[in-house]
Amino acid sequence: MMSTQPELQSRDRVKMLVGGRWETSRSARLGPVYNPSNGGVIAAVPFCTTDEVDRAVQAAAAALPAWAETPVVERARVMFRFRDKIAANTEELASLVTREHGKTLAEARASVQRGIEVVEFACGVPSLIMGQSLANLARQVDCQTIRHPVGVCAGITPFNFPVMVPLWMFPIAITCGNTFVLKPSEKVPLSAVRLGELLMESGLPEGVFNIVHGDRQAVDALLAHPLVRAVSFVGSTPVARQIYETGTRNGKRVQAAGGAKNHLIVMPDADLDQAVGALQLSAFGCAGERCMAGSVAMPVGGVADALVERLHQRASQLKVGPTDGGAEVDMGPVITREHLERVAGYIDIGRREGAEVVLDGRSAMPDRGGGFLIGPSVLDRVEPAMRVWREEIFGPVLSVVRVDDLEQALAIGRDCPYGNGASIFTRSGWAARQFQQYFNAGMIGINIGVPAPMAWFPFTGWNGSFFGDLHIQGTEAIHFYTQQKMTMTRWFESPRDSHHDPVWKTGKG
Ligand code: NAD
Repeated sequence: MMSTQPELQSRDRVKMLVGGRWETSRSARLGPVYNPSNGGVIAAVPFCTTDEVDRAVQAAAAALPAWAETPVVERARVMFRFRDKIAANTEELASLVTREHGKTLAEARASVQRGIEVVEFACGVPSLIMGQSLANLARQVDCQTIRHPVGVCAGITPFNFPVMVPLWMFPIAITCGNTFVLKPSEKVPLSAVRLGELLMESGLPEGVFNIVHGDRQAVDALLAHPLVRAVSFVGSTPVARQIYETGTRNGKRVQAAGGAKNHLIVMPDADLDQAVGALQLSAFGCAGERCMAGSVAMPVGGVADALVERLHQRASQLKVGPTDGGAEVDMGPVITREHLERVAGYIDIGRREGAEVVLDGRSAMPDRGGGFLIGPSVLDRVEPAMRVWREEIFGPVLSVVRVDDLEQALAIGRDCPYGNGASIFTRSGWAARQFQQYFNAGMIGINIGVPAPMAWFPFTGWNGSFFGDLHIQGTEAIHFYTQQKMTMTRWFESPRDSHHDPVWKTGKG
């Protein structure tokens, strides 16, 4: 059941955080936050007005001078405390992620852990933010660079990792001396609010971190705001492109991670058990709602029939169901009813285009209750011309593209409009090296189903999977959230500096 505006108006609104205070938005526009396991509305999220976004940015700008002046070791100490608070509240955060997103508790816990690692990385910013220096670069001229914060930064995040993706951004930005305005996905705003509470409890000064809610209107207000200097975005490719183009046109630095179509190549010499296990987790983990989900399997040569048969067998055994309330399931619901229908629609699109539907996820869920549940699907004999290959489905649908050899797999990869991740399963070092060197994607797995970099490495999407220069995470994030200042120094000797001057000798003035 879609909820109506009057119904939502009677509910408590998700709070926004402005200048250290939790406020109720006065916006007339509200959206529902669902529990995807049962389809019930659990909160009303306000779509903040342009004025409210402006107040949040102004609060961040007001807090900037004092925060930027705060010694970096003190800024990092806030992150040490924040890290411990997240760790101590992992179960609560994971339950919140499961409740508003629908992934299983085990998946939610793992996502919180990935987020904690970014905060741990941010604790090391004092070492990472250091500049460079070189004495006597020219005769008696010394040169030095130091890193300054860029100013007010904004983060716009997707629905699929309500805790982890916001944590990719603000801990690093803030520890680098910036202030921040987060606009979490309107579908999952509750986890971000809890993170904001924990961050404030960690001793962060008021105004350094702010949260606004909403949709395109709030995002456009951030992109147009002259005080916002940098924008980090994670979401779908069309929006990532638009954010990159608008943000850079408005003079901001922008890093914008987009959607994906990730290929999993299985060579004839692969350990098939290992490969099938990894493929299944990659394609159907988090109900396929991961930007690093393996959504295309490419069996090479004679391994195809055996691979498809085993995938079918394993996927049919997955227990799909509601994830809240402690139920033991392998796969939970997708995010909304509209998304469920979109994902299901691709099964029909694939069939119409000539793919063979080996497993139809709709048949696994005859009784969904009110939940947005769909089982795993496997489409065999998919061709690169088909929409199910070209478009991101972002659900538990695995397309199988059969290829004759590794060259053909590499050629198909070259045509892919995306370029996030790709993995190969093989026992051959030569094949693995060819793949690593020549596959058209930024994150490569060798016998790894989900080659998502942990906090210390950048999230290096290529093609339509990323717009910008400096990626999210790792030292590239330090560079993104800082601007360098170079100083050249020459001192001229004065009579006071002479070796014969008593001050020089004794140190006494
Ligand atoms: P989305 O693009 O619909 O929304 C992302 C954010 O942008 C949300 O905060 C949303 O409110 C905002 N937004 C939506 N439409 C907008 C518009 N027209 N103008 C301005 N802002 C807008 O993405 P989603 O559905 O929330 O998330 C799923 C997508 O995110 C998938 O495509 C997935 O691959 C991608 N993703 C990518 C990565 C990565 O690292 N590359 C990681 C996670 C998710």
